Amino acid sequence: MFRCDYFYSVPSQIAQQVEINTIASSFGALAARISVMHRYVLGELRKPELLGHLPENDALAGLCGGMIAAWDAYGCPKAVILFVVEDVTYNICDQRFHEYEIRRQRPDIHVIRRNLTQISQQGCLTSDKRLIIDGDEIAVVYFRAGYEPGQYHSEAEWEARLTVERSKAIKSPSIHYHLAGTKKVQQEIARPGVLNKFLSDSEAKLVSQLFTGLYTLDMSPEGDQAVQMAMENPERFVLKPQREGGGNNVYGQEIRTVLEKIKDSQEREAYILMDRIRPPIQQNYLIRAHEPVKLVEVVSELGIFGTILGTAKDIQFSKFAGHMLRTKLSSVNEGGVAAGLGALDSVFLFD
Ligand code: ADP
Ligand code: MG
Repeated sequence: MFRCDYFYSVPSQIAQQVEINTIASSFGALAARISVMHRYVLGELRKPELLGHLPENDALAGLCGGMIAAWDAYGCPKAVILFVVEDVTYNICDQRFHEYEIRRQRPDIHVIRRNLTQISQQGCLTSDKRLIIDGDEIAVVYFRAGYEPGQYHSEAEWEARLTVERSKAIKSPSIHYHLAGTKKVQQEIARPGVLNKFLSDSEAKLVSQLFTGLYTLDMSPEGDQAVQMAMENPERFVLKPQREGGGNNVYGQEIRTVLEKIKDSQEREAYILMDRIRPPIQQNYLIRAHEPVKLVEVVSELGIFGTILGTAKDIQFSKFAGHMLRTKLSSVNEGGVAAGLGALDSVFLFD
């Protein structure tokens, strides 16, 4: 399961990719609910003729359908789906609905939730690499955690991850896809010619239009050039460490400060540099608890969900699984919904 995020870029007049999330891509459940809510609101406003502008959004059903297909592919009726969760799940109101949806679609499938510490205590591998947790065989592992060093408190959690990876359970994401979602790999994939290894020439051309400039900061002449470019015009770029979960990127003048400290050491290789995308600014209302409603300037970021099931050799399916829209104040760099800076929104299509 993955989510690709896009901004519409004003100068290039095309949607440009912010990044692809292959681990813990959230908001499938809430995005689907928001669509229903905005449809209801249009009804309340006595504007049913506008309903056709709101595309259907069944992200939750699509994502859970992917997990169910993986469970079927594993082929063991007694096995369960494991959600690898944080110690405290702040996104519980999104996450939990995946369990309910799996139960709704398939009452015969059971979901269990464990954090990495619990997996280290309760998990083991059989000699034929089946993953057993608390007596349950695991068919599918869905990582909602495990993308942050802080989620591995000690060697025990790393061991737990290794046990899961060595098992024959189907993982979402596989370790390969987890790595493919890192900023570094995304930057390497955007290099000229790399997409052509995986796609036909015409497909590669179309996909590469989605990429904005991505630059290595390796200790090389190419990396030196990128450092210089960022130091001269920091407002044009975003400096990204190999992190997930929001709130880690560096913007504007702070890029200079950070690069000044690390530009002569290998530490800079932990980052990549990216062109800053400038989305169109619109006026809208962000509705938040305990805050007065007022008209503000906002930008919107579109997320497209998908599911892929396959092996190293072939892809069984690759499907579109719905969308989500986040709208945030145009003045903030990152649109963290949980951080209170952004809001979930609906797409309104027009010619
Ligand atoms: P994470 O994986 O931590 O979520 P992202 O690369 O998705 O990191 O960045 C987080 C947010 O920062 C994005 O959702 C977007 O709002 C903003 N952002 C990231 N890259 C860019 C960019 N190149 N131009 C403009 N905004 C960006
Ligand atoms: Mg991400």
